[in-house]
Amino acid sequence: MAKTDTKKLNKATKAIHVGGHPDKETGAIMPPIYQTTTYAQSSPGVHKGYEYTRSHNPTRTRLEDCLASLENAKYALVTASGLSVTTLMMHALPMGSTILCGDDVYGGTYRLFTTVFQKVHNFIFVDTTNLKELEEKIIKHKPTLLWVESPTNPLLKITDLTKITTLAKKYKAMSVVDNTFMSPYFQNPIDLGADVVMHSMTKYINGHSDVLGGAMMTNNKSFYKKVWTLQNSIGPSSSPFDSWLVLRGVKTLAVRMEAHQKNAKRIAQFLEGHKDVELVYYPGLKSHPQHNIAKKQMSGFGGMISFLLKGDIKRSKKFLSKVKLFALAESLGGVESLIGHPVTMTHASVPKNIRDELGITDNLIRLSVGIEHVDDLISDLEQALQASKK
Ligand code: PLP
Repeated sequence: MAKTDTKKLNKATKAIHVGGHPDKETGAIMPPIYQTTTYAQSSPGVHKGYEYTRSHNPTRTRLEDCLASLENAKYALVTASGLSVTTLMMHALPMGSTILCGDDVYGGTYRLFTTVFQKVHNFIFVDTTNLKELEEKIIKHKPTLLWVESPTNPLLKITDLTKITTLAKKYKAMSVVDNTFMSPYFQNPIDLGADVVMHSMTKYINGHSDVLGGAMMTNNKSFYKKVWTLQNSIGPSSSPFDSWLVLRGVKTLAVRMEAHQKNAKRIAQFLEGHKDVELVYYPGLKSHPQHNIAKKQMSGFGGMISFLLKGDIKRSKKFLSKVKLFALAESLGGVESLIGHPVTMTHASVPKNIRDELGITDNLIRLSVGIEHVDDLISDLEQALQASKK
């Protein structure tokens, strides 16, 4: 489908039709999996745009077209994991760059920055929801790049993306927004002024917990080209089959995200009203400190909830072992509900003193609410809350 046709389409339509057009040669409705590493050339250097699958693959191109369109971007690059696309972006920056990074980012991003790239760049962690402090740090440290996650993982803090990207422009820094938690369905950071959006495609974009993948979208041609060249040189390309699976998964992004959100809202309300729950973090609740910012910049509140369970770590562990439908597992964004304990799982790589400072405590529980029937999910949580008291 020509790019000019797609701009006016709604996201539910884009997710199915951009990159999902019938195969020109056979009319096949489902795109072929170009399970090939190489491509015939008619004479040396004369080819149809494809030479070697590390560089390009037609199945991957379809996915990139779809994802660029969903984020209202000109360019998208799909890689083998979320962390690999982050790695490529870090390599794309000049040596010794200063990066101001949100202090509550995904633990794996924190580990990548502090153990791998700290040798090359200078990372300063800040609360990106505190714009005054952020501006002071920008003035002091003159960063090349601002790295923002909104909502954050696991505390679901919301940063005002319009304000932060305006600050980035004012001080000539690039801005990257990790949009994994909202997916392109509920939030489009480029429309809010971001230079680059990244996703762990592993999560909502694919939606079925069966593929690892990463994606970067931007309107900045030279940055895109730099990151593509690095991908081609370093090699973390997504395989044709993985790209095809994501292309299939993304077709249902709209219905999945609506269902995740509907369930999450009910569960957040249930937890907020429960006497064994101390605090619920969900951007869709009026009690969320940045609920108004969330309403302004997101078209929905997503499927992720975190909450503090009353009691000590023993009770949290007991509760986590008593759930039956929620699987105790890392990751998020699949159709099935998952439950996690950030302190021992996703955020174990963040030092304890920093976790304590941020509020990632022993009794913090994170839910990735799936699309099962919500009554079954609530019953499961209720029985585990009761059983963990004994
Ligand atoms: N960003 C966020 C917000 C994540 O939750 C994750 C993974 O959990 C990543 C990035 C990393 O992505 P991947 O696991 O696909 O490498």
